[in-house]
Amino acid sequence: MTHLLSSYERENTAKQLANLKLDVLVIGGGITGGGILLDATSRGMTVGLIEMQDFAAGTSSRSTKLVHGGLRYLKQLEIKLVAEVGRERAIVYQNGMHVTTPVWMLLPIVDGGTYGRFATSLALFVYDTLARVRRRERHKMLDVNQALSIEPLLRASGLKGAGYYVEYRTDDARLTLENIKEAVHRGGLALNYTRALSFLTRENKVVGVRAQDVMTGNQYEIHAKHIVNATGPWVDHLRGEDGWRGKKSIRHTKGVHLVVDESRFPLQSAVYFDVSDGRMVFAIPRDGKTYIGTTDTDYQGDLVHPTMSVSDRDYLLACVNEMFPRVALTAEDVESSWAGVRPLIQEEGKSPSEVSRRDEVFVSPSGLITIAGGKLTGYRKMARKVVNLVSKRLAREEERRLGTCQTARIRISGGQFEDETDFQRFIEDEVRLGVDLGLTEAEALRLTRRYGSNVQRVFAHIDEARSAASAPFGLPPGVLAELMYGMHEEMVMSPADFFIRRTGALYFDIEFVHRFQHGVTEYMRQELRWSDVVTEYFRDDLACRVREAIFPNHEAEGSQTTHPLLKRTDS
Ligand code: FAD
Repeated sequence: MTHLLSSYERENTAKQLANLKLDVLVIGGGITGGGILLDATSRGMTVGLIEMQDFAAGTSSRSTKLVHGGLRYLKQLEIKLVAEVGRERAIVYQNGMHVTTPVWMLLPIVDGGTYGRFATSLALFVYDTLARVRRRERHKMLDVNQALSIEPLLRASGLKGAGYYVEYRTDDARLTLENIKEAVHRGGLALNYTRALSFLTRENKVVGVRAQDVMTGNQYEIHAKHIVNATGPWVDHLRGEDGWRGKKSIRHTKGVHLVVDESRFPLQSAVYFDVSDGRMVFAIPRDGKTYIGTTDTDYQGDLVHPTMSVSDRDYLLACVNEMFPRVALTAEDVESSWAGVRPLIQEEGKSPSEVSRRDEVFVSPSGLITIAGGKLTGYRKMARKVVNLVSKRLAREEERRLGTCQTARIRISGGQFEDETDFQRFIEDEVRLGVDLGLTEAEALRLTRRYGSNVQRVFAHIDEARSAASAPFGLPPGVLAELMYGMHEEMVMSPADFFIRRTGALYFDIEFVHRFQHGVTEYMRQELRWSDVVTEYFRDDLACRVREAIFPNHEAEGSQTTHPLLKRTDS
């Protein structure tokens, strides 16, 4: 049995999925499904997960990328949610330091803003307490001069000071992937580009799905005792498939982020600021870029490829220019963007920003378990809730005694560190090793931070990547080694998987995409034996993703290269 998420082992994994009777089948490979896979696998269940696109290609690669204590929910008095997600973030960080980083966040206090000085101080105090924030990360209150010295680009007029607190920035797609990899390492089965088409039922109970390999069109059956619908924005599509919709439905709202170069928006600190329409927006520095978001508007469009519109872009630019007038961003400054769809649980009469981000589990008469709503930050607890339910069923039906939830103590793949000191020491050692292998220091650091305790498995490909046989692809050894690792251990199936969800380059290093897209596509063509038609399809697909990240209103072009089998989802 393979314990790697390998692009070369898809057929084997599909065979295992088809031959086993699983305890649980999870549909949806975002953070919710990934968390459930890890929790259920670590309790000793036989678990499979199928994802119709790439892992995390839905909302879980399109968020603001914060594992946060949910300060904004204080405004809506969602005290329980703040406490829950706040404590969770410490666990998420501890278990995956390579994908989550604490960053100081400035919360400017302005005339007419959300909070005055007293309210900001009180809110941050409550936040520190509820979220059990570590002593060295507890908030500080700053006067105007202190705020401006930390962030000189802030608008001085109307500024009354600032709160200063810590948020945790993450890589949402890699957080998802590292959960799935850890689960696979422990015996779980996971396949991307595999869609649940319909349910198999016996005596009105769901007992499996008819699945389709989106890459080949092949269909097969997967049998499972329990099925979890963790399809985020798509949960209602699938819920309808078993003949029961329930009373509550999903409301889709779109959130857009823009990316600009730090030379145009050289932020010293992340900032969470008020805008004149009463909303709040983040501006966050990352890897030489600054990203800004988000919008929150009702959405009825394509769920597979939501994109930035002109009004989304202009709104966010106006927000920045209002709070940072000297920056004077224009549309030409936007290097990249992404748009995501929130799967919110419908609440009548509320505006998009007012709808609660709570999660909820629905059980259909067919036995199908659906988990909807929620946040990236709370994924582990959401998973625990679902797996507890499955565990109870297995105990009742088969008298099986399965363990309790272990994930609070399970390091996700790449996160095998005792503590921060251990992680820092590891980085220094591995960077040295990478340099000895011929990488530049910057490249070795980039890889070590990204892959954490798995980095030696990436380095293990460097010699091969440097060999004459690989040279024609024009990829530097570090890049080719990363791609090789991605194909052997992260199921990279297309250039877009590599450039968007494995490396984040489409958002944060578009130059990297321009430079290496040809080499990456050619290497994948050789390895996966693509025909000319398939190669052309993936080339176009990536070009389309690049265009829609850079230019607004590429909905039409975006859907042109949506895989024909995926396109039917939204009909
Ligand atoms: P998804 O990630 O969408 O996963 C569902 C998957 O199911 C998809 O990949 C889809 O392809 C697959 N699927 C659908 N149908 C089928 C089928 N028939 N067969 C197989 N697979 C199928 N949360 C935070 O904690 N912090 C933040 O900073 C934050 N910012 C956000 C900003 C924005 C703009 C948005 C939109 C959300 C944000 N969130 C944030 C919320 C968070 O991103 C989501 O709650 C979370 O990613 C949802 O994950 P999911 O796994 O439920 O859904």
